[in-house]
Amino acid sequence: MECTVEGCEETPTLHFTWAWGEEGACCDAHRSYLESKASQLGRTIAFERGSTLRDYKPPVVRDLSPELGALRMQNAELMERVKKDQETIGLLEAKIYELQSKLADQPAAPPTAESSPASPPSGAAPRARGSR
Ligand SMILES: [Zn+2]
Repeated sequence: MECTVEGCEETPTLHFTWAWGEEGACCDAHRSYLESKASQLGRTIAFERGSTLRDYKPPVVRDLSPELGALRMQNAELMERVKKDQETIGLLEAKIYELQSKLADQPAAPPTAESSPASPPSGAAPRARGSR
């Protein structure tokens, strides 16, 4: 594995992560290069000593335009928001389900209270008709 800065063939000694989550590895010489890239973009980059180098091949760092950095950051933020929204949806769905099953447990039409004053007591009607 080589330093992921384009054109560099040094063995990477540092693992880095862009603010938007993209990772890579670079040599000591390119740390400041990437840091200045990051400050150009107004984004952070985190470096870690090489022990955490992953096995996959990260994308080569080419000229990273501020637009591209901004879009990637925006994308990462949107992904984060979508994830949170999905969690909220999950919670709300669980709540809805809970409330629905509570409602289902209740008797459909309670025979007391609101319905009884309007209609006569159930025992009265047949007796009244029979006496006439
Ligand atoms: Zn390098």
